[in-house]
Amino acid sequence: MLSYWERETFFTNVDVCIVGAGLVGLSAALHLKQKESALNIIVVERASLPHGATSRNAGFACFGSVSEILEDIRNSDEQTVLSLIEKRWKGLQLLKKNIGEENLGIEYFGGNEIFLETEKEVFEKCSDEINTLNKNLKAIIGSEKIFSNADEKIAEFGLNKVEHLIHNDFEAQINTGKMMKTLLQKVQQIGVQILFGLKIENIVDEENKAVLQTNDFNFAAKKVLICTNGFAQQLLPNIDVKPARAQVLITKPIKNLKIKGTFHYQNGFYYFRNVGNRVLFGGGRNLAFEEETTSEIALTDLIQQQLDKILKEIILPKNDYKIDMRWSGIMGVSNEKLPITKWLNSSMAVALRCNGMGVALGSQTGMDGSNLILESGI
Ligand SMILES: Cc1cc2nc3c(=O)[nH]c(=O)nc-3n(C[C@H](O)[C@H](O)[C@H](O)COP(=O)(O)OP(=O)(O)OC[C@H]3O[C@@H](n4cnc5c(N)ncnc54)[C@H](O)[C@@H]3O)c2cc1C
Repeated sequence: MLSYWERETFFTNVDVCIVGAGLVGLSAALHLKQKESALNIIVVERASLPHGATSRNAGFACFGSVSEILEDIRNSDEQTVLSLIEKRWKGLQLLKKNIGEENLGIEYFGGNEIFLETEKEVFEKCSDEINTLNKNLKAIIGSEKIFSNADEKIAEFGLNKVEHLIHNDFEAQINTGKMMKTLLQKVQQIGVQILFGLKIENIVDEENKAVLQTNDFNFAAKKVLICTNGFAQQLLPNIDVKPARAQVLITKPIKNLKIKGTFHYQNGFYYFRNVGNRVLFGGGRNLAFEEETTSEIALTDLIQQQLDKILKEIILPKNDYKIDMRWSGIMGVSNEKLPITKWLNSSMAVALRCNGMGVALGSQTGMDGSNLILESGI
């Protein structure tokens, strides 16, 4: 139940309500308020902190490993995949512009895709395509030396059982926490209200407005932008985006850590990186696709045990280490790799589905969502 003061101060004359304070929702709010400073914009977030994918991710500033790109080309066509990579690359530049390199804590250590002795065939296919890919990506990235065979780095990184390594000079890593803190501050500083702990249960399209229902009270906004990503089907059962849980762990600081940069393994189903002198490692969703198609933030023994095994046998075979934390987050995925930004009715639009590459796609997806609202002439 709201008081008169609460209703009048926070929920009256709302022009735009953005649901979800992840990278997409906050980027939309930033752009919208920068373009139309008079708009009364609120962002509502169900949890005490943004609690989906953005603040729980691995912080890879990536645009695709060779095996992922080739798999995507097999599933669609080369031109579509190149334009997707271009979106990711441009999205990363937009993220840097919005947040600033220092606030992102960006580190240009490069990326690496590793192949075990059992993955000779996949490696050879990838290696054969490096030159063609580099040529095709030159116009996007601005260099022809993007991917290269770099087996000599395997020993440098202290990896075990790894036979081949493809290096990507243009992949980087960010500090996800710093990114979110900066973005939250920027959005609030320009006058957008962010209300935490407010879960939207239902949204009803009425004449010239949408009514947002919570378990306690209702309020209206002229336009609503839904940026709830992996949770979207809770509000919109027919939308083509499914939840996909991703589980990760991080070690305590490790003496003489050799791992530096970002690493992809098994078509991107596993990923690890250094965070200072710690290792962050995640993946394994392919072990239990059905069970991991969930919006429940939780851990499972099956996946955590597999992460432990790979960490010990392949990533840190010679180091003493302890696990500091384990957590999971929820992505929004579909076979369709492009995000969705569109109107659902006269008052409600969506901007979501960055799949596993929201660091690259999130800022532009938010901006595209905010452009829909601006074009509506609000
Ligand atoms: C473990 C993990 C590792 C990842 N690693 C990487 C990586 O290294 N690089 C990369 O590019 N991408 C990575 N991703 C994916 C990336 O984080 C996402 O694509 C991106 O953050 C999506 O941003 P978003 O704003 O769309 O969604 P989210 O960040 O999920 O934001 C949606 C928000 O909506 C809120 N919400 C949901 N329902 C409601 C409701 N009814 N009412 C109010 N609020 C609601 C949620 O609490 C959430 O905060 C990773 C994801 C995970 C989970």
